[in-house]
Amino acid sequence: MSCQALDELKQQVPLLNYLQAHDWQPTRQLSRGRWMGLCPLHCDRKPSFLVDPSKSLFYCYGCGRGGDVIRFAEDYYQVKFLQAVALLHQWRGLAPLLHEAAGFYRMQLHRNGEAVTYLHQRGVRSPELIEHMRIGYAPGGGLRGWLMQLGHPLQALRQSGLVTALGYDAYRHRLVFPLEGNLYGRSLSASAPPHRFLPGSKGGLYAWEQVRRYPEVILVEGLFDYAVLWQAGFYNVTCAMGNHLNAHQYRQLCDGWRTVYLAFDADTNGSGPQAAQWLARRLLDRGVNVRRVALPDSHDPNSFFVQGGDARQFQALLEAAQL
Ligand SMILES: [Zn+2]
Repeated sequence: MSCQALDELKQQVPLLNYLQAHDWQPTRQLSRGRWMGLCPLHCDRKPSFLVDPSKSLFYCYGCGRGGDVIRFAEDYYQVKFLQAVALLHQWRGLAPLLHEAAGFYRMQLHRNGEAVTYLHQRGVRSPELIEHMRIGYAPGGGLRGWLMQLGHPLQALRQSGLVTALGYDAYRHRLVFPLEGNLYGRSLSASAPPHRFLPGSKGGLYAWEQVRRYPEVILVEGLFDYAVLWQAGFYNVTCAMGNHLNAHQYRQLCDGWRTVYLAFDADTNGSGPQAAQWLARRLLDRGVNVRRVALPDSHDPNSFFVQGGDARQFQALLEAAQL
């Protein structure tokens, strides 16, 4: 591999972006645009990891490791140089690939009556909402050919998880929702597992960049909960894609002063309420203002709206929410 090819790769994968995609968050800014944060390479208690975005270099005062984005990938994944280069190539290729896959799925949505009917049953009606969430449909064929025609090698399609080892489209008969660095697929047939993600992280909180500026934020478990709330005018809603938050999502919720309303499923087996209680305690410890929204028994926000609940009634639940 030539020096020029390596320099190109390093330019295309800025260290700070790569770190943030691996859940790293700066804790304070230094002079000349440099940042300090906890070191992802050793068990760090006070920030000792220095990043210089203008030079795309890092150095840790705790463990003494330092270098460029390739060195970071070597140390983080504990692989040799060439493997680290391969990982970075893969990472760089994934974003445009997912973007184009999502575009393909969106074109399919209105060609499939069953998919549109399912959306209606789950209360998703406004074209504006479908556009906002970029909802698509995976028919189970055609994606592979479409992406290869756009110049993506089969190898890359397999690595992303969009295509199976045998070469078939991985998502079939599913509604598809683009996430940060992933695609969520909701099955329309009862015989397949309902929820699927591509390999890798489910990403951060849904639409967080649009939500984080609100002083009050509603957190829900599922994207269909998100959808009906957004449609009812609650634009301060976000979603964890499940009732367990990953470290990245948890740090996002704690990244500023705000009140968080937990509107998890009031399911009869108690997993939603339990998860909400556990999360509420952790958020309180971090000084975040928390309220738990009490939905009627065995309801989630989606079924609440689908079965006739309206914005005024949900607002009343928010106002009645307690710690
Ligand atoms: Zn370190």
